[in-house]
This record gives sequence, C-alpha cells and structure tokens, in this order.
Amino acid sequence: MNILINDTKKIFTERFGKEAEWITAAPGRVNLIGEHTDYNDGFVFPMAIERYTVIAAGKSLAAESTVFSVNKSESVNVLIDGSAKPADTVTWSGYVQGTLQNCVENGAKLQPFNAVINSNVPLGGGLSSSASLEVAAATLAEVIAGHRFEPVQKALLCQKAEHEYAKMPCGIMDQFISALGQKGCAMLLDCRSRMPKMIPLDDPAVSVLIVNSNVKHELTGSEYPDRRRQCEKAAKLLGVPFLRDATLPQLESAKPVFDKEPDGGVCYRRAKHVITENDRTVAAAEALAKRDWKTAGRLMYESHASMRDDFEITVSEIDILADIARRLDGVIGSRMTGGGFGGCTVSLIESSKESAITEAINKEYTTATGIKPTIFATTAAQGSCAIK
Ligand code: ADP
Ligand code: MG
Repeated sequence: MNILINDTKKIFTERFGKEAEWITAAPGRVNLIGEHTDYNDGFVFPMAIERYTVIAAGKSLAAESTVFSVNKSESVNVLIDGSAKPADTVTWSGYVQGTLQNCVENGAKLQPFNAVINSNVPLGGGLSSSASLEVAAATLAEVIAGHRFEPVQKALLCQKAEHEYAKMPCGIMDQFISALGQKGCAMLLDCRSRMPKMIPLDDPAVSVLIVNSNVKHELTGSEYPDRRRQCEKAAKLLGVPFLRDATLPQLESAKPVFDKEPDGGVCYRRAKHVITENDRTVAAAEALAKRDWKTAGRLMYESHASMRDDFEITVSEIDILADIARRLDGVIGSRMTGGGFGGCTVSLIESSKESAITEAINKEYTTATGIKPTIFATTAAQGSCAIK
C-alpha cells in the first residue's frame, strides 16, 4: 500500500503545487464463501485484500471541490453543500458524489477540497473497487469534517450511495468489509442481524490466492433477477420468510410441492444451493477459526459444485480454473467467488507452494482456454483508515 500512497501523494503535489493534508484508504475484498446468500437473509464470509483505493486531498481556495481519478484520467467537480441529486446516467464520480452527499446529510460539514483518487483494485473485476471508492470517500469526509461515523453507519451510507447514485441494488457485504475489516481476520457477516464476527485468518503457512479468469460473459440481464425471483418463490413454497429460515430436510419433504409447479425443479435446485451454502459458510468460519484447513477447503470445493450444478452461475472457464486448482499440490480448497458468469476464483493454499501453484495455473489455464489469467496472493488486510 505504501507505494500506492506515495504515488498518490506525488500526483497530488504535481497537480496542486503543495502537499496533501489528508490521506485515506479503503480496501477491496474477496468473498471466501457464501454466494447468493445475502439477499436470502443469510451469511457471507469476506475478507479485505491488500488492494486499496487511496485518496489524497487538500483544502481548495476556490469555492468548488474537485476529484481527479488517476484510473479514469478525469477531474470532476463535486457538491459539498448537501444539494446533490442522483444523475440519470451513472458515472464514476456518482459513487463519490453520492457518498459525500450522504455524509453531509448525516452531519459531516465539509469545506472545499481538491482530491486525487488512485486505486490498485481492478475496476469492474469483482473485487469491489466500487465499495473501496465509496468507503475511502466517506473516510475522507470524516477527516475533512472532523466528524466520526460509527463504522456500521459509514458502511450503510456508502451502500445507500451505491443504490441511489450507481443504481446498483447491492447487499451490505462489500461496504461492511471495506469499512470494518481487520488485519489478519476474515468477517462472518449475518446479513439479517448485520452483525459482523471477526474470525482470525493469520497463519503465515496459509494464503489466499485470487485468480481472475479474465472472462465476463455477456448476460441477458435477467440472470440475477431470475435467481432472486426463484429464491423468493422457493421460500414461499416452503412457507418461510427467507431461505435462510429453511433446512435441507424441510426442502426434501417439500419436494412434491415443488414438483407441482412449472418451474419447480429449478426453484428446488436454487433453494438447495442457498440452504446448503448458508450451512457451509457458517461451518467454514468455524473451521477457519480452529485452523482446520482441510474442512474449510472441502467446504469451498462443495460450494463450487453447488454453484455449478444447483445455482448454475459458473461458466466453463471458471470450472476449468477450479478443476486445475483441485489437482495441484498445496491447494487446500478452491471455488468461484462473486456473482458468477466469469470473474475470479478464490483458493486457500499452502504459502510455501504459492509460486509453483501460480505457475501451474497460469500455464494450464492458458493452454485450456487461450486466455491469460491474472493471479495474486493476499493476506487478510486492514479495513478503511485515515493515514493523515
Ligand atoms: P467492482 O466493484 O467489482 O470493481 P463495479 O462495477 O461495482 O465493479 O464498480 C466499478 C466502477 O466503480 C467503475 O466502473 C467506476 O465507475 C467506479 N470506480 C471504482 N474505482 C474507481 C476509481 N479509482 N476511479 C474512478 N472510478 C472508480
Ligand atoms: Mg462493485
């Protein structure tokens, strides 16, 4: 992170001819297990990664406030007087404007500033550059205003900005882990109670490897809403408020009810994924807390199979990555992470074998698909902070 901070400070000084007064940072994240469980009121288990969005800022002598994104090579004016409204079209600066607006509405009094934003979280890569941008912006608002938000409130006002200004109806996971992450810990998050539980993940012998398949399949746009609807229907057929409230035996005995429905078979499989994935997520957190790597790894493989067979959100490239990982010496567990149809896998590996594993995945995946993956290892990183 230090290189990124120094680069960002330097860019600020080049643009504004003075040193930055405030520096904030917030990380991206990876979800270890618990996919499509959030909107079923269930559990997710993310950790912050060693990739950050950094913001360097200083007072502006003009009336306007500006934000410059190094990643987008663009400077945009933002409103700090509480008069901002969501625009019709989503732009990158909307994430910042929405966050600042919600901070102001919740008591942060801002003064005009200039800011440089710089991120090494890949944009749109499924590692939540968007939440890291929002949380870094909210942290900037805190230091400029001298106004501390409760971390949970900070996460929620960032989530609200993403809903309203990016028109993305996301759950609470990304903003929670970026705002509240602790170094050396993953976070078991109950999406119903919004209670985070920190689980130590700090054994130097074990690392987390993220592999980006570098494929994103063109979707018709109905995949996500279809699955939400199928989950809602399944909960209704089971007579529970959310699938979080159902058990596998309950689902088995309701099979005849599902069979009577035209799309009953699909809804049954969707429910089976969510119910078993919830159990796996809680069990994986328990296993990691005990450093029972074998159990955690098995649950990750099972999660992948469930996303492939029951929830049907994997694609061939992602299945290939998971299969390659499974065969390699030193891989403890592996699965797709994120919403699906491409994106990344996350694997638990023996740290001492990282370079051999990376090399093998690189070679075998490229041979099988003709695509080069992007691979990096990370430990569980610190959540948002004000550095200066
Ligand atoms: P993800 O969160 O998985 O990276 P999203 O589509 O949710 O993908 O968010 C990516 C969007 O967030 C970008 O297209 C851009 O609009 C905005 N964004 C994130 N980081 C930055 C940044 N450093 N500079 C400008 N915009 C950013
Ligand atoms: Mg995002």
